[in-house]
Formats: sequence, structure tokens, C-alpha cells
Amino acid sequence: MELFNLSQPQERVDFTEAVQRGLGEGQGLFFPDAIPTLNLDAAFWQSDFLTRAETVLGAWLDQELGHDRVRTLVRDAFGFPLPLVPAAPGQYALELFHGPTLAFKDFGARFLARCLSTLAKDRPLTILTATSGDTGAAVADAFAGLDNIQVVVLYPDGGISPLQEKMFCTLGGNIHTLAVKGSFDDCQALVKTAFSDAKLKAQFGLTSANSINIARLLAQICYFFEALAQLPAEQRDQAVFAVPSGNFGNLTAGLLAKAMGAPIKRFVAATNSNDTVPRYLKSGVWAPEPVHATLSNAMDVTSPNNWPRVEALCARQGWALAELAAERVSEPETVVRLKALYQGGYLSEPHAAVASEALTRQLSGEEVGVFLGTAHPAKFQDAVESALGIELPLPPALAAVVDKPVLSEKLEASFEALAGYLKRTL
Ligand SMILES: *Cc1c(COP(=O)(O)O)cnc(C)c1O
Repeated sequence: MELFNLSQPQERVDFTEAVQRGLGEGQGLFFPDAIPTLNLDAAFWQSDFLTRAETVLGAWLDQELGHDRVRTLVRDAFGFPLPLVPAAPGQYALELFHGPTLAFKDFGARFLARCLSTLAKDRPLTILTATSGDTGAAVADAFAGLDNIQVVVLYPDGGISPLQEKMFCTLGGNIHTLAVKGSFDDCQALVKTAFSDAKLKAQFGLTSANSINIARLLAQICYFFEALAQLPAEQRDQAVFAVPSGNFGNLTAGLLAKAMGAPIKRFVAATNSNDTVPRYLKSGVWAPEPVHATLSNAMDVTSPNNWPRVEALCARQGWALAELAAERVSEPETVVRLKALYQGGYLSEPHAAVASEALTRQLSGEEVGVFLGTAHPAKFQDAVESALGIELPLPPALAAVVDKPVLSEKLEASFEALAGYLKRTL
């Protein structure tokens, strides 16, 4: 697979290099040079998710990695269900939250982890990352037990919820967690300083499991095909996907699926009141505002980092940006929609509710709606309980960690302390 850097197109890399680097020169995003198309015959639609994912990812990666390796990556990364569930009249939810950390990010993070593990060979590799809560869990869980990769996660001591801490600080083994005596910004600054120290970087093979890594996007393409496969065959070419969007990774993956031949009728980009993209598509002016805190806080992003990929893809496919529908959903509208879904028999959470509301506004005629269920309702327990006036039990994945001991070490917020820790521990 050949990729080029969107901001410096003369820089070209293969998948192996793009995965290990994350970003190109000048922070440019890697983008595929060619997009493979699939033969979508009856056998494709009738096979199971893992076989289909193997076909989808194989089209990109077989040539570079070999089919057996792609097959193993898929089987190791994607071992959990993703049901398409009727959620409202004319609307299905694609539930992407049945993985170990109960959010769709498990798909991308687990696939990326296994790609790095197989591509790194015998070089030392250390994932160094700072978290304010949820990404730490997905990354730590995805790499747990991959013994050629060490993971060091920094988080503000006392700055994340006890349940979040339990989710990624109880794993042990190759997962090292540091409770930093400082803020999240201090944690991020420490990581940045470590990456800028060439000697330290080389000694430990420091790398970031960045959310814009191309491996994550490729993994996410698979589930758009899965939703179509689970729809009744006669509705497949009427599907409208509403994507609850923050950094627009999911929407980019959906558009890549369409470019590969998925018969998706159209997309609706759904945002909360952080609505840079809906405003941009109306006015043509890119004008990010300060971030608003919302109930769907994983979408509280005003400068979505995948947006250049969306534009590049539309340009190369000859799709007008105007074909992309976008809806901004306010906080009260989110709560009303969450309640309506619940009264109709479907328990959801704020991110999916934003997308469902966008579909309600957009669907017409013969169209059938699919919104992505990006997180388990229990992950947003407070918001869901107060909107619906119910009590949510902890799902087994969370209940299982509640009684485990936290294994983190405390760390002073200084580079010397971090460098000392790495030298002592790894
Ligand atoms: C990350 C996240 C999103 C946003 O996805 P993007 O690919 O960044 O647009 C939506 N919902 C949940 C629950 C998330 O964790």
C-alpha cells in the first residue's frame, strides 16, 4: 500500500512506515495513493464479519504484508460482536461498543496495536501517551499482553474518575501507568518533551499510538460493510449513515468504504454544538470556535484532525462536498432524542442520540437510516441516568475491574523523573 503526505505530497511511504510514524513531515496526514475496489458478490455479503473484514483489509494490505498475516491481524483484533439493532422507525443502530473498553475505538486501537507488534519485529518499541481518561483505556487494553511492546500511560493524579483509573491501571505486564503530580497539560508536555529528546526516543523506540494513524482508519472501514451486510438485501442501496463526529475519523472511514464500492446512498455528519463542520458546509468559511463542553464529550472537538482527509477523498472521487449532509444537534435536542429512543424501547447514550436526531431530520422516502453506536450507555452513566431517570447497572467489563488493585506509580511532573522511570523500568 502506497501513501503520500497530504501537506507535503512528495513524501511517499508504504503502510509499514506510515503505521510506525503515525504522522508525516510537518505533521502531514498520510493518505492512500490508490483505493482498491471490491467485488461485492453474494458470497461477500453472506460471509461472516471476520471473513469480510479479511477481504476488505486484504484489498489494501495483502500485497505488502501477505494474506496470512492480514488474516491473523484481523482474527486477533476483531473478536467481538457488532450487531445492527432496530432502534427507531426506519433507523438501525450499528452497535460498535461490545469490545473490551466499550467504545468503537477498540476496533482501531486493537488493529493498530497488532500491526505495530508484527511490523516492529525485534526493535524495541514503547508507546508513550498521556490521557485524560478514555483513550488511555482503549490504548492500554489494545496493547496488553503484546510482549514486544511496552506501554507507558501518563495521567493526572486524582484527575480522572476512579472507574476510569481501574480500567487501565490494573492490567500490569507490559502496561505501565504513571499518576503524575500535575494536570493533564503537564502530562502532555512531558510526553512532548520526551519525543523531542532524540536520544531517549531512539533508546526506547518511543512512538505514539496516535488517533490519526492510518491503521485505525483502515480497521474502521470494515464495519460500514458489516452494517450493509446485516441490512435486508433489498434495502442495501438505500442506506444513509449518520456518523456522530468529533475528529471525523469514522466519517473518513465510511467515505473510504464508499470509495471501495460500498453501495452507501449518503452520509450525514452529526455534531453536537461544536459545529465547525456543519457551519463550514453551509457558509464555506472554516471558523472553529472555542470548545463547548457537552453531554457527548468525545465529540467536543472544534478543529477535527481528519478533515483534510475528508476533503482529499471527496476531491479525488469527484464528490461535491455539498453532497455531504451535516447536522448540528443541541444539548436539549440530544436529551429529547435520548428519551424518545428509550420510550421506543432502545437504550442509548448522548453520542448516538446526536446521530439518531440527525437521521430523524434527514431521512426521506425509501431511505433506511443507520447511526453508529459509538459507546456503551454505561460509559456515559451520569448523563444517561439523569436524562432518563433510571439507574444503569455496570456492564461486566467494568464490574470485573472494580475490585482490582491500581498498579500505578506516582511521578513528579518533571522530565528527569520520567526519563529516570523509563531507564529504571523498561
Ligand atoms: C471518539 C468518539 C467519537 C468521535 O469519533 P471521531 O472518529 O473522532 O469523529 C464519537 N463517539 C464516541 C463515544 C467516541 O469515543
